[in-house]
Amino acid sequence: MTEKFFITTAIDYINAKPHIGHAYEKVAADVLARFYSAKYGRDRVRFLTGTDEHGSKIEKAAAASGVALKEFTDQTAAQFSFAWDQLNIQPDRLIRTTDADHIKTVEDLLIKIKDNGYVYEGEYSGLYCVSCETFYPEKDLIDGLCPIHKTKPELVTEKNWFLKVSEFTGKIKESIEKDELKIWPVERKNEILSLLEQGFNDIAISRPNVKWGIPLPWDKEQTVYVWVDALINYVTGAKDENGKDWWPANCHIIGKDISKFHCIIWPAILLAAGLPLPKEVVVHGYLTVGGEKMSKSIGNVIDPNDWVAKYGADAVRYLLLREVAFGDDGDVSEEKLKTRYEGELANGLGNLVSRVTTLAEKYLGGKYESQKNIFYCDFSKEKKEIEAEIANFRFHTALSKIWEQVIIANKIVDEKKLWDLAKSDLAEFSDVSHHLIARIYFVAEQLEPFLPESSLKILDHLKKYPIIKAEPLFPRILNS
Ligand SMILES: [Zn+2]
Repeated sequence: MTEKFFITTAIDYINAKPHIGHAYEKVAADVLARFYSAKYGRDRVRFLTGTDEHGSKIEKAAAASGVALKEFTDQTAAQFSFAWDQLNIQPDRLIRTTDADHIKTVEDLLIKIKDNGYVYEGEYSGLYCVSCETFYPEKDLIDGLCPIHKTKPELVTEKNWFLKVSEFTGKIKESIEKDELKIWPVERKNEILSLLEQGFNDIAISRPNVKWGIPLPWDKEQTVYVWVDALINYVTGAKDENGKDWWPANCHIIGKDISKFHCIIWPAILLAAGLPLPKEVVVHGYLTVGGEKMSKSIGNVIDPNDWVAKYGADAVRYLLLREVAFGDDGDVSEEKLKTRYEGELANGLGNLVSRVTTLAEKYLGGKYESQKNIFYCDFSKEKKEIEAEIANFRFHTALSKIWEQVIIANKIVDEKKLWDLAKSDLAEFSDVSHHLIARIYFVAEQLEPFLPESSLKILDHLKKYPIIKAEPLFPRILNS
């Protein structure tokens, strides 16, 4: 089988610590990487994430914190990798745009684009939002302010090197229309197509006044525009430690605020360099917390480590993908996390595993033959349905389908009055228990991409013979 799956996330800008919004995107990518690893084999999947470390915003953040730039980027990048580790997010590489191989890749790729004749020198004057690191046309401002930061952009005039994006917009549009470059969901695809319809200006690929960046190879007075630098990480990170090149990416997972960069500018860079386009760009929505946009001033910025410390990685992963339809905006909060933890995880799955294994130990002496009752234990139809949901980025419905199985199993325990049955009809009790264990096994297998820790615990437990009572999967949360 020659299938491979190369998945990437946006790389995070390290001017601040990771928050739950960053975590959301990385968890989703990790789920897909695990899902395709189970399907194709771990060695046929490459998962890339990392940090975006250049630009004036980082320079300013470092200066404000009173730490040297290198030290600042090392410290902040480490906070991101720590947070992903806590959440059981397991990329093959955490790329940093300050990595030597990335700097080399950026230089080589830009020289190639220039040699191909797609770069020219020019002057640009426009309204620039420093927080976005981007120029805004007047029409995109809201009341003269940056639509994202609500701050007044600065009028900046400068000499830049430009990429002839306009040479490629026709080809990009065609690729998107033909789904050679897929954009999911379709609303985002239509947005991009309408942007391309309106025509798209050439973009500056260098900046004259930003010191903290990669010097342009042929004009050292300029540094590479941080967005161009960042996008190229996908090509740098496509090469693995054995020298194998995984490009093109099968799936770029990104937030909707940066879809223009990934669906127009990035394809233009690739085409100018003579490289193939990615297969698909998957665009998720924004997360709010308790109904509000996360912001320092409101004080509702959630550090994922806090939730993981209290509820565990699986519960946080579960909340993020169960609560919100991927692609839509959605809201999360500790209240919602707690409700799902107690209801669906502890009382739903946890209670099921505990009840069934307790009874199996007590009344069957743990004896369990897996080949029995094969008729009851064919879940291939359910498996197919769940897989289709995951492959189409409907994580919340995949989880709800898995939980249907948990609910059915708990219902069987209740309706068959398993406690009484053990005493009145041991043969029937044994049949039902075998069926329930098969169903739990199925649930645990399907949960692996989402809840890797709990899944492994259940599978390990059920593989042991004889079966004994399981430890609680989701213990009570104290002092909450
Ligand atoms: Zn802005």
